[in-house]
Amino acid sequence: MIEETSKEVIDQRIQMAAEAYQFLKNTTIRERAAFMNAVADKIESLGDGLLTTAHQETSLPLARLAGEKARTTGQWRSYANAVATGIYAEPRINLPQPDQQKGDLRKYNVGIGPVVVFGASNFPFAFSTAGGDTASAIGAGNPVIVKAHPAHPETSKIMADAITTVVHEFKWPEGIFSHVTGTSNDIGAYLAKHKEIKAVAFTGSFGGGKALFNIANQREEPIPVFAEMGSINPVFAFQNVLQNRAEELAKEYAASLTLGVGQFCTNPGVFIALKGEGLNKFINTLKNEIPGITPVNMLHKGIFENFEKLKTTAIEQPEVNVIAHVSSEANEWQGRATVVETTGKNFIQNSILSEEVFGPFGIVVACETPEEMIQIAKQLKGQLTITVAGTDPDVRENQNLINFLKDKCGRLLFNGMPTGVEVVYAMQHGGPFPSTTDARFTSVGPDAVKRFVRPISFQNWPDEFLPQELKNENPLQISRVVDGEVNSGSLKL
Ligand code: NAP
Repeated sequence: MIEETSKEVIDQRIQMAAEAYQFLKNTTIRERAAFMNAVADKIESLGDGLLTTAHQETSLPLARLAGEKARTTGQWRSYANAVATGIYAEPRINLPQPDQQKGDLRKYNVGIGPVVVFGASNFPFAFSTAGGDTASAIGAGNPVIVKAHPAHPETSKIMADAITTVVHEFKWPEGIFSHVTGTSNDIGAYLAKHKEIKAVAFTGSFGGGKALFNIANQREEPIPVFAEMGSINPVFAFQNVLQNRAEELAKEYAASLTLGVGQFCTNPGVFIALKGEGLNKFINTLKNEIPGITPVNMLHKGIFENFEKLKTTAIEQPEVNVIAHVSSEANEWQGRATVVETTGKNFIQNSILSEEVFGPFGIVVACETPEEMIQIAKQLKGQLTITVAGTDPDVRENQNLINFLKDKCGRLLFNGMPTGVEVVYAMQHGGPFPSTTDARFTSVGPDAVKRFVRPISFQNWPDEFLPQELKNENPLQISRVVDGEVNSGSLKL
């Protein structure tokens, strides 16, 4: 039974968050990094109860959850490290010049205010209550209010308690972090509308993300919404690779498509190639691989029902044929892997086939001509990832198509499969709309912090009153751009 946090309590928590922001914005990057490392330690120390609770609530295997817990603590630590380097503070200093009237100008980034985080159902640790959005918002200097995902409320509470314990240990204001619960859209909408909330981070359905985006933009004071909503992550396969390794490629594709019952936002839902012997071999291998995939329960009943509904809709479209599927009856909420095929022409004409089916469902698109592949590339909606399966000669021969693909995604892979998102600086997890609401940012990797800062410039302020990041002495010993040159020393004035 999920408790509905009342509007009165939400108002109190938001007010506490607004007050905590006044505290947090004056903490140094080192202090915030220390807090983040302490949260990582606290999560690490949580016993098996965390894993068994999450397993019961999500059906995700214990081994996967153990890996996700390690990823989560790794995120807090790597984001802490990044915050401590000062790269998100981006300090810039222009010293007075004889030919300039403005005098001394110094700019750096500060937090933006209380952030609401909507956790994802498919990553109960790494993208939920104590996930990357919470870590990056706090790292940037913002209090966080988490709207717990209704599919794993107990897991969410364990994580929330861990963060709250660290807030108490640091003797920081309670409003730095709070946790609200409920099962209706009302709570989320109320949070996004609240005047003290300054940004929203969301991972989930297109409907949910877009609804929150619309609410945020209709406010008297519009606020940014960083929503990661979904993607079909197309794979474009070329002739040389299909001729040389069609079977191997089909095995890689089947494994990626069905990994975690297909419940990844980077699931490769569409495979596009030219008709021919290579593609036939690829399809024949899928016919062997897919039926052998053991069906497993999906995350929650709603996701299972959505999967069944969207899969059936896609299968029922004209000129769509099932080529491989798991034939057993669905037991409980088991997601049964299915792959269909259609023509390039039909894929271009029927927009239903370009909609995400969240789960283990793939479409193989057999094109008549290279021009048809280009047309598909040109009309694709924004994607988190696109994969080019090919050889070097394939890339040379298909420059025109690949050029279009660059406009359509946040991460362009050369071979390999898109599932598995590394938490590193050079990762981009965010692409053009509708995969996200703001393609300029990533929700994975330390650069996720950038979403929650804004610049402020100080003109002619005495050194004593400047923030540490901008003082002459450079007490934090961070890299700064001083009169156009990168400099990590102190200023000898
Ligand atoms: P969801 O329905 O989008 O819900 C995510 C969170 O947003 C929940 O806390 C939900 O709370 C809230 N929410 C949803 N719609 C809202 C609205 N209109 N106004 C305010 N709050 C709203 O996602 P889900 O339950 O995880 O899964 C449903 C579908 O989302 C899946 O079938 C899949 O298609 C997609 N999904 C995508 C990803 C991805 O990585 N992009 C991940 C998971 C799921 P309430 O339920 O309390 O309103």
